[in-house]
Amino acid sequence: MFLRGKRDRKAEMAKDPVCGMQVNESTQYKSEHMGKTFYFCCQADKSTFDSNPMKYMGGSQMSMGHH
Ligand SMILES: [Zn+2]
Repeated sequence: MFLRGKRDRKAEMAKDPVCGMQVNESTQYKSEHMGKTFYFCCQADKSTFDSNPMKYMGGSQMSMGHH
């Protein structure tokens, strides 16, 4: 009997907002901010993001806050 599912599941990839690298969503380095989950390639980038998430939020938040 061939177990389907586990092997077939394509690993979800996400973009590391700090360095722009494509990372697997199963990475241990992730942060939740404003209800959104961000994935990182390493602890250093996660810390960078955590110290200034607005900088890496892609600017959308900025425009809302400054009108
Ligand atoms: Zn990175």
